[in-house]
Amino acid sequence: MAPQEKITQLRNQLRDHNYKYYVLDTPSISDFEFDVKLKELQALEEKHPEYYDANSPTLRVGGEITKNFETVAHEFRMYSLDNSYSKEDLEDWETRIKKMVDGEVQYTCELKYDGASISLRYENGNFIKAVTRGDGFQGDDVTANVKTIKSVPLQLKGDYPSKFEIRGEIVLPFEGFHKMNEARLEAGEEPYRNPRNTAAGSLKLQDSGEVAKRPLECLLYSLKGNDIPTTTQMENLEIANNMGFKVPQIAKLVSSIDEVLAFINHWDIYRHELPYETDGVVIKVNNLQQQEELGYTAKAPRWAMAYKFKAEQVATILEEITYQVGRTGAITPVANLEPVELAGTTVKRASLHNADQIEKLDIRVGDTVFVEKGGEIIPKIIAVDFDKRPLSSKITQYITHCPDCKRQLVRNEGDAKHYCPNEEGCPTQIIGRIQHFISRKAMDIEGLGGETVALLVTNNLVTTYADLYDLKADQLLPLDRMAQKSAENVIAGVAASCSIAFERVLFALGIRFVGETVAKKLSKHFKSIDALMNATFEELIAVDEIGDRIAESVIAFFAISEAQDLFTQDNSPGIENRKIIERLRENGIQLEISAEKLAGQTTILAGNIFVVSGVFTQVSRTELKKLIEDNGGKVSSSISTKTTYVVAGDNMGPSKREKAEGLNIPIISENEFLVMLV
Ligand code: AMP
Ligand code: ZN
Repeated sequence: MAPQEKITQLRNQLRDHNYKYYVLDTPSISDFEFDVKLKELQALEEKHPEYYDANSPTLRVGGEITKNFETVAHEFRMYSLDNSYSKEDLEDWETRIKKMVDGEVQYTCELKYDGASISLRYENGNFIKAVTRGDGFQGDDVTANVKTIKSVPLQLKGDYPSKFEIRGEIVLPFEGFHKMNEARLEAGEEPYRNPRNTAAGSLKLQDSGEVAKRPLECLLYSLKGNDIPTTTQMENLEIANNMGFKVPQIAKLVSSIDEVLAFINHWDIYRHELPYETDGVVIKVNNLQQQEELGYTAKAPRWAMAYKFKAEQVATILEEITYQVGRTGAITPVANLEPVELAGTTVKRASLHNADQIEKLDIRVGDTVFVEKGGEIIPKIIAVDFDKRPLSSKITQYITHCPDCKRQLVRNEGDAKHYCPNEEGCPTQIIGRIQHFISRKAMDIEGLGGETVALLVTNNLVTTYADLYDLKADQLLPLDRMAQKSAENVIAGVAASCSIAFERVLFALGIRFVGETVAKKLSKHFKSIDALMNATFEELIAVDEIGDRIAESVIAFFAISEAQDLFTQDNSPGIENRKIIERLRENGIQLEISAEKLAGQTTILAGNIFVVSGVFTQVSRTELKKLIEDNGGKVSSSISTKTTYVVAGDNMGPSKREKAEGLNIPIISENEFLVMLV
């Protein structure tokens, strides 16, 4: 088969698979087969750049960087919706409608998805552009990011209007949201508050490769165009479905407001079983001719109405405020409540976030508080019922000392949270750090679990993760439920962790804000712990996507202050951490990129610092940066006198070009760069 033919065949197969998997939820081939085909296509496309297709399934993995999202005017305005809250509101709406249109009126009932609204543009069956709602008249061009969402078809099936827009909602299903939060907690980061904001935030990430990793979905429900061949909203949903879009399966055609209410009442209960957040029902006049007659008010269509579900709320009593210490020392106040039923679960606790939150709401022990389960997964306290406040109530005094080790807490400028600074002596932090170190995504130490770690610490067998490597089986035997065999397994598991790659070791160290992705970036750039330990703030922030906050945290982790240089007996955490690293080194832990990783890499570009700007055709930006680093060069995000070359693609920013020209830095094309490597 000729390469072009093969490429077309693979693209079609992959598209079809994507459709079956992400739109229909009925996969037809295994993930493995899919990956094999995808790799095959990637290889062919690399060899034959002349068959480039902006909508190829290989581009779903992302990699394109958007620094500034371009503002785009909507061809058809994106309206808001009027809200209703009761049967009466809906009946009033029907009365208004019946005055304006003749004949029977039928309605469609759809669920109101709580995500980020989006408008997708298609021309001749190809995906062209994705724009956020913005102010309704113009929004942000988020095409590169939306392209990575697998349920958005890049090429349509069957019959389709030649040009049209389709609107819908980008949502983050609960399951994916929970997984993302688990990873954040593991990295010692604050969890995301709710799926909707996280979905909206995802669309504005600069690296589309990051968006590709997020399990976003796109549900579409509204067609706009000048040659749409249908007469009702129901038909619109049907043709959109046939073109390959994921349209809501829960949409019902009804003939009266009573039937609308029946739909609302049903879904007000069953929505809790859906995989994503909904906050109401949208009722639309089904007939498009009638829709046109009804038209729009200044803000919303007259032919549609949103019915908002009431956020579920209950009142209960705040019995106690307790304080949790995280593995990075962050303190989280927790409300302990008199147990109460809410949205199908019993709620006993709610997060109070931080001291400001308590002060803002003036929450006190003994208060009757309103608890709500909205978009958030963890219930939150939204207000205090001051009428019910007991006379004896006292203003909440936030703790000043760690509940665990009694050390005085600190709160840094700009931080919402208080921290226990006693990294070396605070039991919860010690246990938490070691538990993180051994966890699956870090050193993945088999045979050793979180509870055993706690026992090891409380029995004074270990105080840092480096101590794990000195353990002997007979020291473990006295511990609860520890038999000879399991003790040996612990020792073997610990020994086996010497083969864990440097990037995961770096993640395992538990440096605040250094999660999995950041650890990968740092290990790739610095290649060894020694280089990282000695890096200056400037060198750290010069690394692509490393900001001030991460740089400061890395510096603090290894910091030796001058005073402590003189009086080394009074060790700073930085010195302790350096000592721990030396012990890990003695035990054979990988503290640099392994030889195999370095193989296949050259030093052709050593000593050169590159800035990459614009969009490229033969390789993605991410690949281009990888090529630079794999061949010994460095990538920096901003142009300075130290920059050796600027590699410019299409649409390079004018300010960058000016700066490069001003500093006399050579600007080279993608091809000129690729030639440097041969
Ligand atoms: P609001 O932002 O409260 O004015 O509500 C209007 C928004 O609801 C629209 O812009 C859409 O993003 C969103 N929405 C969610 N589900 C639907 C649906 N089935 N039909 C129309 N709009 C919907
Ligand atoms: Zn403490």
